Amino acid sequence: MTAINLPDIFGSMVFNDRVMQERLPKDTYRAIKRTVSERGSLDKSVADVVAAIMRDWAIERGATHFTHWFQPMTGVTAEKHESFIAPTGDGGVIMEFSGKELIKGEPDASSFPSGGLRATFEARGYTAWDPTAHAFVKENTLCIPTVFCSYSGEALDKKTPVLRSMELLNAQALRILRLFGNTTVSRVITTVGPEQEYFLIDRDFYQQRADLLFTGRTLFGARPPKGQEMDDHYYGSIKPRILAYMKELDEELWKLGILAKTKHNEVAPAQHELAPIFCDTNTATDHNQLTMEMMKKVATRHGLTCLLHEKPFAGVNGSGKHNNWSLATDTGINLLEPGDAPGENAQFLLFLTAVLKGVDEYQEMLRCTVANAGNDHRLGANEAPPAIISVYLGEELTEALEAIASGSTYLARERVEMEMGVPVMPAIPKDTTDRNRTSPMAFTGNKFEFRMLGSKQSIAGPNIVLNTIVAEELCRFADRLEAAADFDRELNALLKETITAHKRIIFNGNNYSEEWVREAERRGLKNLCSTVDAMPYYIAPQNIELFTRHGIFTEAEMRSRYEIHLEDYCKTLNIEALTMTDMVRRQIMPAVAAYSQVLSASAVQKKQLGADISIEMERELLRRISQLGESLYRQAEELEDILLTAAAFDSAQDKARFYCDTVIAHMRSLRGVADELEMIVGEAYWPFPGYAKMLFRV
Ligand code: ADP
Ligand code: MG
Repeated sequence: MTAINLPDIFGSMVFNDRVMQERLPKDTYRAIKRTVSERGSLDKSVADVVAAIMRDWAIERGATHFTHWFQPMTGVTAEKHESFIAPTGDGGVIMEFSGKELIKGEPDASSFPSGGLRATFEARGYTAWDPTAHAFVKENTLCIPTVFCSYSGEALDKKTPVLRSMELLNAQALRILRLFGNTTVSRVITTVGPEQEYFLIDRDFYQQRADLLFTGRTLFGARPPKGQEMDDHYYGSIKPRILAYMKELDEELWKLGILAKTKHNEVAPAQHELAPIFCDTNTATDHNQLTMEMMKKVATRHGLTCLLHEKPFAGVNGSGKHNNWSLATDTGINLLEPGDAPGENAQFLLFLTAVLKGVDEYQEMLRCTVANAGNDHRLGANEAPPAIISVYLGEELTEALEAIASGSTYLARERVEMEMGVPVMPAIPKDTTDRNRTSPMAFTGNKFEFRMLGSKQSIAGPNIVLNTIVAEELCRFADRLEAAADFDRELNALLKETITAHKRIIFNGNNYSEEWVREAERRGLKNLCSTVDAMPYYIAPQNIELFTRHGIFTEAEMRSRYEIHLEDYCKTLNIEALTMTDMVRRQIMPAVAAYSQVLSASAVQKKQLGADISIEMERELLRRISQLGESLYRQAEELEDILLTAAAFDSAQDKARFYCDTVIAHMRSLRGVADELEMIVGEAYWPFPGYAKMLFRV
């Protein structure tokens, strides 16, 4: 094995700040930096200089093409490759790439989902360079991160609102810092580190299963005798084949400047996790998309398939993503880190309560950001947090907050009595190691870990909402504190009121328990069990008001996104149901018939051998198999009829409701019959590999 030189390869495919400093003329570099810090647009002449240098740099790294790399509402990234080649007029070609091509592109975007936006506004969409994200070379293509908008300015992508929400949060957080007398910080960013779970299975098995190919999850599959009950996979030693995969994946990610750091086996067999070192939300969102893409590509090179679906296998844990989120200043301070001095703690407490208040007031909106057909299998199924949003703070921090709310003396754990008068704040415990793994939103010492995300979704949605709701609360706090005659007194009153009004969102117990479901109901917290229950809140007046007031979304954008999410839900279930009927008709029923024939032939042969030979086994099995076979046939017919009914709905919400209540029930029932058959039909006759093979033979 050749040793790799991490400093050499890290970011070697990224046109990052270091490269720009080295290669760009000084004034061009300064112009770019100014564009980034002032969020302005780039001058055409500057763009031409950057483009030429970027092209040469990319060609040195094997690039022949360039693309505007963007994140449409499909949730995956999109690329339209164009080669650098331009005719010279004398039959030759030169490698060309202009400033105009760097700054703006016009992909034929008519088939990206727009939820009616383009029809309502402007037919064409355009992409524009996001200079706050670095260009990179991937597979011989220079990728330029871009936003994707309609000509009337509506965002058609996931990146634009991320950038808008970061700007908003920056502005509001700065107001708060100024109130605390801080004049040195000039920018506040949100930081994110997403932990990504995934499954790896043998590629041969994957290719033999239409359900995995078409839907990313198994729609059939009897439980193997061994599942995850032994917990022997979690942090277990990693198999050589998987290690080789992880090593190559790390290297690919490092080249792209992605700080892949930890990797380990997860709870379910064949399940693993990768966590990067955190960075700003915009970059983290790009990087997570790239990570998912590389996970799949590298798997193919190793004869493996990476499954990113939220629930590839029934009966074993599915995959999620933990969105670790915090606020950082350009002076290197984490604003969710409790300080040493009481004054710092007051500031910390203000940011902390802004999160509490935002999460409580906009819990439905936050819930919507993790609502999709795949994640419905996980939330509330005792493998992921419930569908009820709450915040874990740990006992000590909760006690400190309660003391502030009640105006009582806070007795810290080390039994040091604290004065609770104005403006003294309690010493905040720094060590919150008693981590609660069941909470949807856990404070883990200096950041919040939002744990409800599905494994394959973009992290953009949850972060747009987190940034916006926290910015909203900071804005309200700042309005009040800026107007106060006595800052300390007002601050204390504000904390007291906010904690009292929103402490219902704090829960430190077991979120998987039945009692919590009842307790949450008593507290008035929402339990939105499915995507269909959650999505109407996406366009609730309170949410439209919030997001339009802050310019994160227009109302049209929100309504279009709502439509896209529901359409996606219906389409996903429709494809799953059609795949099921197809597999039943063309694979399972023929297999059942073939096995029945074998049993019948065996019975006939035995009969010929003599009356004293029992054919009870064949008779019993045949009876059971034909009963189940009949049922399978009938249920597949029914499911198809039901899909016709589903297709006739006009309203997206009604249609989604029908899929949720009726189609899913039929799918489940059909699966039940098929899985029973799988357990009695000879393995050699079953048309595709079963769970035991897929999960344990990697
Ligand atoms: P866990 O115990 O949840 O598995 P890990 O150590 O695997 O924790 O992951 C923690 C994640 O949190 C990492 O991706 C890390 O980069 C991220 N993280 C740490 N500090 C911050 C921060 N200030 N802001 C955002 N993310 C952070
Ligand atoms: Mg975690």
